[in-house]
Amino acid sequence: MKAIVNTETCIGCGLCVSICDAVFELDDDGKAKTIVDRIAAEHKTLAQQAAKDCPVESITIVD
Ligand code: SF4
Repeated sequence: MKAIVNTETCIGCGLCVSICDAVFELDDDGKAKTIVDRIAAEHKTLAQQAAKDCPVESITIVD
């Protein structure tokens, strides 16, 4: 499982980072990015929560 951030639509609110900082961080340009290639099993639930809660639906979780 991996997470993909659409930096075209991300508004840099930081919510995904506060929900799951093991997977997401804000880049220097103020956009979220993923910091892992594959999401570890223990972080999957929070990563999915971040995707669900992103206000502009900029996070896609893929297998
Ligand atoms: S929650 Fe969505 S809009 Fe906010 S920083 Fe993360 S990807 Fe960007």
